[in-house]
Amino acid sequence: MVLGKYKTVVSARSTDKEILEKSQDGGIVTQLFVFALENGYIDGAIVTGIGDRPWKPRPYIATTKEEILAARGTKYNISPNISWIKEATRSFGLDKVGIVGTPCQMQAIRKGQLYPIGLREVPDKIALAIGIFCMENFPYKSIQQLVEDHAGQKMQAVKKMEIGKGKFWVYTERGNVVSLPLKITHKYEQPGCHVCLDYVANLGDISTGSVGSPDGWSTVFIRTKKGEEIWNRAIAAGCFETTPIDQVKPGLELVTKLANEKITKNKKYIEERASYGVNKGLRNPYI
Ligand code: FAD
Ligand code: SF4
Repeated sequence: MVLGKYKTVVSARSTDKEILEKSQDGGIVTQLFVFALENGYIDGAIVTGIGDRPWKPRPYIATTKEEILAARGTKYNISPNISWIKEATRSFGLDKVGIVGTPCQMQAIRKGQLYPIGLREVPDKIALAIGIFCMENFPYKSIQQLVEDHAGQKMQAVKKMEIGKGKFWVYTERGNVVSLPLKITHKYEQPGCHVCLDYVANLGDISTGSVGSPDGWSTVFIRTKKGEEIWNRAIAAGCFETTPIDQVKPGLELVTKLANEKITKNKKYIEERASYGVNKGLRNPYI
């Protein structure tokens, strides 16, 4: 169960070249939101753009294709997307809200739907929750230090950051590519991530990440009935190319291995904390 419940899992990428051009992986998140918006499944989506400093995440509500596209790409910091849910329904008047987030944010959404304290009238308005895989996250200062001090690049010159193949990669607009071994990045991780037991966003309607699929493609878990309906309609509309997951390398085996590694390592940390009386009750009820 380290991969959570799902109906289908495939390797996929968007068929829209404009989406693919600046997307992090296969453009799954952007393509799904655009399709959902254009076909009435959502009337806006809470996405993560860039704020007042280079690569500092800023959540906002996208109600057009252009605004959804403007959020393409991964920002390796916490983006408080959940804090915009009320704003989306009240100030923007959305009745069908799309939202993207990390596994912990998917948990917060589902918890908010079950116990809507402070989220009154909101639970039924979450129309599509897309989870992204997440091994760890970083405070903004840490990303700055990694990019500027370790990789020797200016934040404003960075085109893309990526974690993959055992390294943290920085790509600049001028074509520089710098990679750092993960043993350098570990100490910069956000400490809260070390008690996290979900790698593949078990609670999204659909969840996606690069791991398991070839470069430029994404691994996609379709988890809920709602997710399945939107996914099947998007496939029928020609939005995605897909390949069965058992026909791609490294495939589900690597996703399972990494999920197991995250959970085992963090469980050990939780137990260690429990031994001195902290967070005894922490657990993931889904595994
Ligand atoms: P795109 O079409 O490019 O769209 C990206 C979407 O992600 C945008 O809608 C944007 O709003 C949203 N987004 C960007 N940054 C954030 C953020 N900080 N918080 C919430 N939403 C955001 N994938 C793996 O396979 N393995 C990993 O270990 C892994 N770790 C990750 C760690 C972090 C902190 C984050 C944010 C993502 C991680 N991912 C990981 C997911 C991966 O980097 C891509 O986000 C995912 O594959 C979606 O790619 P895409 O081409 O479909 O998205
Ligand atoms: Fe959230 Fe877990 Fe990712 Fe940290 S590792 S950002 S707690 S999902």
